[in-house]
Amino acid sequence: MALTDLNTWNKSELSELYKKLDAKYTEVKGRNLSLDMSRGKPSAEQLDLSMGLLDILNSDSPIHVEESIDARNYGSVDGLIETKKLFGQILDVNQHEIIVGGNSSLTIMHDAVSRSLLLGTVDSTTPWGKLPKVKFLCPSPGYDRHFAICELLGIEMVTVDMLEDGPDMDTVEELVKNDEAIKGIWCVPKYSNPEGITYSDEVVDRLAKMETKANDFRIFWDDAYTVHHLTDEPDVLKNILTACKDANHPNRVFIFASTSKVTFPGSGISVLASSEENINFIKKQIATQTIGPDKLNQLRHVHFLKDLETIKQHMKKHAEIIKPKFDMVLEVLEKQLGKQNIASWNEPNGGYFISLNTLDGCATEVVKLASEAGVKLTPAGATFPYGKDPSDRNIRIAPTFPTLNELQTAIEVLCLCIQLVSTNKLLQ
Ligand code: PLP
Repeated sequence: MALTDLNTWNKSELSELYKKLDAKYTEVKGRNLSLDMSRGKPSAEQLDLSMGLLDILNSDSPIHVEESIDARNYGSVDGLIETKKLFGQILDVNQHEIIVGGNSSLTIMHDAVSRSLLLGTVDSTTPWGKLPKVKFLCPSPGYDRHFAICELLGIEMVTVDMLEDGPDMDTVEELVKNDEAIKGIWCVPKYSNPEGITYSDEVVDRLAKMETKANDFRIFWDDAYTVHHLTDEPDVLKNILTACKDANHPNRVFIFASTSKVTFPGSGISVLASSEENINFIKKQIATQTIGPDKLNQLRHVHFLKDLETIKQHMKKHAEIIKPKFDMVLEVLEKQLGKQNIASWNEPNGGYFISLNTLDGCATEVVKLASEAGVKLTPAGATFPYGKDPSDRNIRIAPTFPTLNELQTAIEVLCLCIQLVSTNKLLQ
């Protein structure tokens, strides 16, 4: 249904439209759909790209690596040198600035926050958990699981707006300068979840340079989508560790990444990168937690992914599969909603999400109606601290998992729900 700006329609026109949309919605509900666009998961076709990972190690493979480490045995608590070199290329840091973790970067983020609460950081005089209050800045919309870590561990979240090139730095600078309880900020700096934004050089520099009241303030830099481009002209993110060193705050940043959406989520490898001082401090603590990580998994990733160039080629194959899905979503949104002035959305150059804003106060109802029609979306509000979107307008679309046909149906249903809820709102 091609419509013009609904804000210019009079009540009787809107009422007429509402009846038509409602009838269509009843018809769609009768189709008993069951579609899921709720989480950013790779599709089976994407997972097939990494099946070689399962064959690359066998009983004839060399299992002694640099420094004569036997990858089958205990040891190398911070990872194999080969794995560190590989991630060093991806993140543009040196091998001494890396600890290779287990299968999930979320785990090492959770552990980094937990250790800071229990034991403090290398710059802390008091463990954060012994202080009367700990707060984190949460640029939003953001990643719901970051917010869940804060909620679980009793850290108060302070919402900061996301602008077109990263968090609202005027607000961030003002808050961290004056409040000692603010110990951290969550950042997804490249192809952010959910908005697909890459931080500008200026934002990176301001984060590195800003004056903080807490001298053990940390940036939790979740570079989850660092090689996940959708175009041949990838966004370029300034190196935060170098920026922090240049600003005389070398210990300020913890960088996280993983191969979850490069190979197999759940069976990949993750990494923490930071200053050597931070890395050495944390390495000692981790040595109490484990005698060594899964080095055979590291080894097969090193053999399979080889180097940055091979990773880039591999990620191009991912893009070939998922770019048509992003294009499809954008095309349907434009066709169905483009002229109606009831929603806006971003067109990301990479990552896993499209972020959509409805009219204020409509997102919860849209997600509910879509769910009742068999289309599951991320819960409204999930992209904000405490699950509360103050404008109730943000909806995260995850296009990678469904097939193209499923996706088209799901987005058409979503557009119908947005039209229905918006028309109802404009009628009031
Ligand atoms: N960070 C961000 C921003 C994500 O979107 C996701 C998954 O969706 C993760 C981390 C999870 O990473 P991992 O699988 O390494 O735990």
